[in-house]
Amino acid sequence: MEPLELLLKIADETRNCTKCGLQFSRKNAVPGAGPHDADIMFIGEGPGFHENEQGLPFVGAAGKFLDELLEGIGLHRDEVFITNVVKCRPPSNRDPMAEELAACNGYLERQIQAINPKVIVTLGRFSMQKYMPNAKISQAHGQGLRVKGRLVVPFYHPAAALHQPSLRSSVEADFAKLPEWIKKAGDVPEYEEPPSGDEDEQAPEQLSLF
Ligand code: URA
Ligand code: SF4
Repeated sequence: MEPLELLLKIADETRNCTKCGLQFSRKNAVPGAGPHDADIMFIGEGPGFHENEQGLPFVGAAGKFLDELLEGIGLHRDEVFITNVVKCRPPSNRDPMAEELAACNGYLERQIQAINPKVIVTLGRFSMQKYMPNAKISQAHGQGLRVKGRLVVPFYHPAAALHQPSLRSSVEADFAKLPEWIKKAGDVPEYEEPPSGDEDEQAPEQLSLF
């Protein structure tokens, strides 16, 4: 099947999907939007209120900011593919749960296969963790790495930058470097999974042993 046909089929499947509980909170599934041959794919978290109403990704406040960030590097949203790790809105915009992420992952994988983008930009923790399960976004953001043959660049979620103005310049700086990552895609090092333990956050009981 051709990429466009595949994307339309995937979109259709999400609209009728009953694989997880988010089917009950959805008004409209939000499969994603953009060209079938996009070089850049953005993966966010999940639809919010406006996305659920319209069936389109990133059309609320975070989307407006994403448009501005894209414009800052000479891109328009029509030139990139934008989607999410879950295609249906979690109730009250809560975080997606592990079983929902697992249930929905097949659609995202098929979209990636169909589009075969040069770079995948993850927006926020949940899409970053798909590729870098133990990474911390505060350390990993803005650094391109090769994961399973793909160039993946994790960014903070634009909504996080809207809520925490201190992140705004960091998000803008990360976006500004995106064209460079695409240029040097071939030379980007492989991702190595860090240990899952967190030495910075030892439990108080452990500290009291010393
Ligand atoms: N936030 C997301 O992660 N995705 C959207 O589609 C909109 C807001
Ligand atoms: Fe299906 Fe994904 Fe929607 Fe769950 S979130 S019902 S897996 S399309």
